Amino acid sequence: MLDFDIAQQRLVDAGQALERTESVSLPLARGRVLAETLNAALNIPPADNSAMDGYAIRFADYQAGKALPIQQRVYAGDVPEALQAGYAARLFTGSLIPANADTVVIQELCSEENNQLSILEAPIKGQHVRYAGEDMAQQQPILQRGTLLDSSHIAMLAAQGITDIPVYGRLRVGILTTGNELTEPGQALKTGQIYNSNASMLRALAEEMHTEVTHVIHAPDTLEAIQAALEKLSHECDLVLTVGGVSVGDKDLVKPAIEAAGGELQLWKVRMKPGKPVALAKLNNTPIIGLPGNPVSAYAVFALMVTPLVRVLQGRSHALPRTSYGKLDCETTLHGTREEFLRVQAITQDDGSLHLLPYPQQGSGIISSLAWATGLARVPADTNVTPGTQVRYYDFAHWCA
Ligand code: AMP
Ligand code: MG
Repeated sequence: MLDFDIAQQRLVDAGQALERTESVSLPLARGRVLAETLNAALNIPPADNSAMDGYAIRFADYQAGKALPIQQRVYAGDVPEALQAGYAARLFTGSLIPANADTVVIQELCSEENNQLSILEAPIKGQHVRYAGEDMAQQQPILQRGTLLDSSHIAMLAAQGITDIPVYGRLRVGILTTGNELTEPGQALKTGQIYNSNASMLRALAEEMHTEVTHVIHAPDTLEAIQAALEKLSHECDLVLTVGGVSVGDKDLVKPAIEAAGGELQLWKVRMKPGKPVALAKLNNTPIIGLPGNPVSAYAVFALMVTPLVRVLQGRSHALPRTSYGKLDCETTLHGTREEFLRVQAITQDDGSLHLLPYPQQGSGIISSLAWATGLARVPADTNVTPGTQVRYYDFAHWCA
């Protein structure tokens, strides 16, 4: 059995950024990954401008009690004239600073009468000026290759006037569920059957990671059906996720099917609970991850082990999101032989400490625990964990994104 961290790192190492890149328009760039580092085409702001509504002066012209005649009124979008010595310019937030002016006095500290400006409080030289290039400087890198573009990056690109964005191709994910007991939501449920919840769950998880789920296939528990599905998916997708049939039961045929198709198996069992049986393989150069069938195990393994590989394949620069520490908020001492990932709710107390409250039912079939939990607490193996022990916390908000 492999240790969790080693297995996780192997998954990170199993992939590399997609070779496919494309150009997308600005409105379609959110959720895509930059394929090139972008430099600023422009200074932002392009010219010195006012941060406030007020008056521009030459600082050297200020004398307490001395009024300055107003030379011009400059609205946002106007092109001002150079400021003459001894004059002031009325301006507004975003108005260009006239040449020769160096200081803005906010209107609350001024009074204006008969086109004469009185300044009621001594200004500070340079105050309330937004300088050209102070936000983004022309030709300097502004966004690094591997950035997952969100609204904040979109704002930068738009401010630069960039409309065609070089991004990696969208990761095509194929999902294969297995099991004779499964039927699809919408169908009548016969005795002995359960609904296939993993297919929809994994599709949603993969889509939340900005991938394109191109295939969702269900195969009965036969070698031929699983092998045929794997061959199709490995040709048509960038990443294949199988779920179920990956343990040691008679009907656990995913591993034999990968081998029968000529795939190369890279790992098999990980010292983690939930989720012990996890397979990584390559078939037709496409990574295949075999997830355990229990929905909670599949979810946990997706969050902890699949998402790092997804990020690598997407070209993203950080495969492993940050973790934090919190105090385990349980009543009994825990002792596990495998590392255990408990579904917990993280609650910040008034003193600022993070408490991790485990869901009462930690069985790997308890689907409802996933909606309740905010993340996973990692309880080390072969140690007694007493209530209040600091343990590592994996927040779904960071890991499943
Ligand atoms: P397996 O690994 O195939 O033995 O499955 C382990 C458990 O997970 C069994 O109780 C299965 O019925 C259940 N399971 C497997 N696949 C799914 C699925 N797609 N949706 C819901 N439950 C599943
Ligand atoms: Mg099964």
